Amino acid sequence: MAAKTLPKTPFQLHGGCFCTAIRYTISVPELSERKLLPKTPLTLERLLVPPNEVNERMPVISIDHCHACRRVPGAIMECWFICPPSWVQFTLQPRDSSHDSKANEEDLIKVESMAYLDEDKSLAGRTWVTHYKSSEHSNRTFCGRCGTHLTFFKTGLGGPMRQAMGLFFDIAAGTLDKESVEMEGFGPVMQAWKDDGIPWAVKLVSEGKKGLLDDTAEDLAKLKVEDEEKK
Ligand SMILES: [Zn+2]
Repeated sequence: MAAKTLPKTPFQLHGGCFCTAIRYTISVPELSERKLLPKTPLTLERLLVPPNEVNERMPVISIDHCHACRRVPGAIMECWFICPPSWVQFTLQPRDSSHDSKANEEDLIKVESMAYLDEDKSLAGRTWVTHYKSSEHSNRTFCGRCGTHLTFFKTGLGGPMRQAMGLFFDIAAGTLDKESVEMEGFGPVMQAWKDDGIPWAVKLVSEGKKGLLDDTAEDLAKLKVEDEEKK
């Protein structure tokens, strides 16, 4: 069965932090306007679904097993939605808005992604956006009120991927609204940094529940019996 893919026509995704102090909208353009990915990241070893005309272009939805991206959100693994900054707009509550009352529409601060991601023009004083440099050229953002980790951005010139793709940044897929993350065709295309990952988490992604079992055939047969008994 072929993997389902995201639409080829323009569509929008919405998300934000837990307390809604930080919200964003991603506007994905039609297929021909999405950049083709270089071949490098899409190696067979990393791919979870076969390449096709949609997933060989931005956005990249990728599970990330690296140590930093596991520890920072405190999750077993991270899943990123990777796209150009020009696709994303942020809407921020002013810092003086109270936790319980929703900020008035006219008080909301709308910013382009580069202003949001750029620590030099930090919105920290006026909004709940908080930056953290997790390595010399890595900038992450959080909500200073609820703690949600939202973005990862590689500052500086970046590697071959940046040279081929131009600017891009990562949005934690877990911050997307349910309707967005559950839309038809939304799902990880690849997993990165497998060697850094927790072995059982990598196996779970690669092999499904049989990756958790010692003696696959025997245990799977037992699980099947238990499943049937529950019916
Ligand atoms: Zn928040």
